[in-house]
Amino acid sequence: MRAFVRSPWVLHYDASSCNGCDIEVIASLTPLYDLERLGILNTGNPKHADIFLVTGSVNAQNVKVIQTLYEQMPEPRAVVAVGTCATSGCVFRECYNVMGGVDTVLPVDVYVPGCAVRPESIIDGILQAAQALERKRVFLRSLRGRAGAVVVERAFAGDAPEILALQKIVFQNEAEMYDDYTLTPLKQTLDDLHADFQHRVFLKAVVGGKIVGSIRGRLEGDTADIGWLIVHPYFWGRGIGPRLVGEIEAHFPTARRFETFMGERSRYTMVPFTEHGYVPVRQVKVTEHRDRVYFEKRRDAGGVGGDPA
Ligand code: SF4
Repeated sequence: MRAFVRSPWVLHYDASSCNGCDIEVIASLTPLYDLERLGILNTGNPKHADIFLVTGSVNAQNVKVIQTLYEQMPEPRAVVAVGTCATSGCVFRECYNVMGGVDTVLPVDVYVPGCAVRPESIIDGILQAAQALERKRVFLRSLRGRAGAVVVERAFAGDAPEILALQKIVFQNEAEMYDDYTLTPLKQTLDDLHADFQHRVFLKAVVGGKIVGSIRGRLEGDTADIGWLIVHPYFWGRGIGPRLVGEIEAHFPTARRFETFMGERSRYTMVPFTEHGYVPVRQVKVTEHRDRVYFEKRRDAGGVGGDPA
């Protein structure tokens, strides 16, 4: 391990752990394992934290707390899911009130499986998160001075390689969340994407000359089929997703109805659509681990949804 340039500070949150993993987190701070000897400090203030360490699974009671703590942390920040509950929901994942692992609501950088997790694994996970932080710092530095406004504009076939690379990053996160690496966006090739450009409108969100988000849509009759909203995880929570949804709708002024679909736990994709008035209309089981939820929004007077204010 190379010496850290900075001391990463860790915020620990017990989501709904049985306390088994929390005891191991405490153990990693005791003189036997002595996490602090590596310059890593435990903090109770999200505004001072670089690494968000979460034990336990996400449920309806704690989801807002998890999101709020994460949003209060300064950039760059890294998330470590500690324990099988935090990585996948563990044996509780089918419970009526459990939404799943932490990646249901946050972009997780490091998964530390185990029930309960050993202190050595926790320390290793934090060191990996510190390396992820350094990579994020380099990325953010590369945008410095150019990261002003987000520009949303029409994308063309020449943008396909960059959009495809972004698509793979975003859907890799989805694949890990659902433990399903057969997702169509992950298998799409550059030729497939070029073919898509023939019959779909693509938009891109650009920051400092780099594409950090995209969405695509196609009009069939009076229905606009909107799909594959992708935003680079570093740019989540900055309003890029809702803006892309709003702007792609504007490209189909004659559409009376909009439809889209996504995995039932893909909250980061879901929120930009629900903010624009999309409502779930049906849910279909796709694999053992994944359901697909279909959403629609109607422009007709008296229909469901409606244009957002
Ligand atoms: S992974 Fe095991 S020890 Fe950790 S919180 Fe879940 S049930 Fe408890």
